[in-house]
Amino acid sequence: MKADADSMTWKTGEHTGVSEHMLLTVEQGKRLIDRLEQKHGLPMAEMTALIDANCPKLRDYVRLKAREIGDRIYGKNIYIRGLIEFTNYCKNDCYYCGIRCSNTKAERYRLSREDIMACCREGKKLGFRTFVLQGGEDPYYTDDCIVDLIHQIRTAFPDCAITLSIGERERESYERFWEAGADRYLLRHETAAESHYQKLHPENLSLKHRKRCLWNLKEIGYQTGCGFMVGSPGQTSEHLAEDFTFIRELQPEMVGIGPFIPHSDTPFAEETQGSMELTLYLLSLLRIQQPDLLLPATTALATIHPRGRELGIEAGANVVMPNLSPVGVRDKYALYDGKVCTGEEAAECRNCLERRMESVGYHIAVGRGDHRNIDF
Ligand code: SAH
Repeated sequence: MKADADSMTWKTGEHTGVSEHMLLTVEQGKRLIDRLEQKHGLPMAEMTALIDANCPKLRDYVRLKAREIGDRIYGKNIYIRGLIEFTNYCKNDCYYCGIRCSNTKAERYRLSREDIMACCREGKKLGFRTFVLQGGEDPYYTDDCIVDLIHQIRTAFPDCAITLSIGERERESYERFWEAGADRYLLRHETAAESHYQKLHPENLSLKHRKRCLWNLKEIGYQTGCGFMVGSPGQTSEHLAEDFTFIRELQPEMVGIGPFIPHSDTPFAEETQGSMELTLYLLSLLRIQQPDLLLPATTALATIHPRGRELGIEAGANVVMPNLSPVGVRDKYALYDGKVCTGEEAAECRNCLERRMESVGYHIAVGRGDHRNIDF
């Protein structure tokens, strides 16, 4: 395929993958983006070429389109979720993650039920109507424990959404959590490509099981979030195109993406961090592929750029997830090096985010911030 001056400059740019595929001109790229908008998906080869074509001109093009679509559906509202990182114990050994079980340097902690309830009370006062309980896969919190916790939060905060992000469990467990009153579940698939999944995880973890969990969650009725890291070791543009294909099949309510950031006490300590430009480009493409998605501007994005969250919003994101965990444990939930916002009290975080959103013409919305297709 012919390459014009524009397309030639792309190849010298910030792109991740090795490209032996179609080289697109800017015009061809725009046409593919228009097709993505119309068809809500592209065949693998075209999606791969479009991802490869990441360049300033196409980023501008997708950003404006993504924002227009996002504004049409969600207006200038940005939804907030209060993140409670309640345990950093984990039985898994994912190569990228700072709280992997073989990191003996990680200082482990668990929050008690009373601690968690105190975080929710503080969050409620600050205007949060969604609590996200996230943690490593910690067997200490049995299904019974989690069910009790959900009951307690559900009773004390009937108008709040409860989101779980505690990894892979049996379908029966997910069903029990749902019956107890959990509404949403976040479980990033990490990568939709089998071979890549194996590069990021030890043998006892499988993509097949992770995807099975996601399908179970959807079937049970959870508003479900999947997602992946951008620029994780070994990732190519084909892998990313597979992520888009998987997302098209699953039709999740939320997709969380953020750059991979190395953690110094993991096997990936020396790997390169994911690129902000590619993360922003992919955020926009996700908004275009599936217009009503809830898309967080993640802490990882904020960690690699001082205005990461704002840039994420401008690229099409519409959710932020500030931390409600007690300040004393914040820096212990260290998935990667340099994580921002570990020092401030929840109230400061809330105000800081409000200002940041306003600086780009958006505001934090009150309410649970459900996916627009879910009626309550
Ligand atoms: N145990 C839960 C929560 C995992 S932590 C679960 O399995 O879902 C939440 C997310 O942080 C992970 O899904 C992963 O995508 C991301 N993460 C972990 N290590 C990271 C790193 N080094 N850089 C960027 N993101 C990372």
